[in-house]
Amino acid sequence: MDQARTGSPRAVARLISLVEDAAPQLREVMRALAPVTGSAYVIGVTGSPGVGKSTSTTALVGAFRALDRRVGVLAVDPSSPFSGGALLGDRVRMQDHATDPGVYIRSMATRGHLGGLAVSTAQAIRVLDAAGCDVVVVETVGVGQSEVEVASTADTTLVLLAPGMGDAVQAAKAGILEIGDVYVVNKADRDGAHQVVRELRGMLALAERTADSWRPPIVSTVAVKGEGVADVVTAIEQHRTWLERTGQLGKRRHRRVVEEIAAIAMTALRARFGELDHDQRLEALADRVLAGDLDPYAAADELVDQV
Ligand code: GDP
Repeated sequence: MDQARTGSPRAVARLISLVEDAAPQLREVMRALAPVTGSAYVIGVTGSPGVGKSTSTTALVGAFRALDRRVGVLAVDPSSPFSGGALLGDRVRMQDHATDPGVYIRSMATRGHLGGLAVSTAQAIRVLDAAGCDVVVVETVGVGQSEVEVASTADTTLVLLAPGMGDAVQAAKAGILEIGDVYVVNKADRDGAHQVVRELRGMLALAERTADSWRPPIVSTVAVKGEGVADVVTAIEQHRTWLERTGQLGKRRHRRVVEEIAAIAMTALRARFGELDHDQRLEALADRVLAGDLDPYAAADELVDQV
């Protein structure tokens, strides 16, 4: 743990494996890390496969490194049962930064943990935060409910779209038009990019906002050439400033931790409840309900009190 805090990549990788496996040692790890976390700024990157998330993340990492920030990248694959580090992504991913000691890159699969992807992601973010990352980029692999959940662990969520994928409509269906703080239309070098920007602008205009609401900007990029990436960084900084000025940053983080605690508690309760399945007390309650001594609601209340 001390090695992870001083930034040893191997120690960080080991701790993230513990998160991935929901290992029992996590409890102790989280206790030790608690006092040294809370300073990393978390950026979520989401969008359909092929829109350019990896390419954009690589470019963003470069931009933050140029500002001398230490960066962690967490690529979360909600659909993959394979353990982290094994994702093919890691090998091809971000070779530009492979030897930079100021950058950690890690894939994470989660094997359908009960606590949910958002909980595992939050814990992995804590590890990177404690290891001294100023910025953590959380990249998800697809567009779906789990991606939306993962995005909820971020301070600023980037939603990527690209022309030629029926993407704006798809985004609307997947619900990601509600979660974006910054919209990035990548592959602006391709035909149809203007159309995507127009459609997106139209859809975002329908959202109800008050005078002091954040209005998500739309930034066009050509990630493969690094074009527009500085504008993305500026948009992120502006959103951060807005979050801080309005107190929303604290509120978002608070809400996130509330959800995290609730998810962990629910998992623990469910486990205890599972243990009760063949419990004598439950059997006895069932007998009493069958005998007409007790109604099932009262029986359930007794059971809950015991859990
Ligand atoms: P991901 O699946 O969302 O992570 O997408 P990738 O970053 O792997 O990119 C998918 C493909 O699109 C790759 O072949 C990239 O080289 C290409 N690509 C990424 N950004 C751009 C861009 O701005 N313009 C063009 N023409 N191609 C791009």
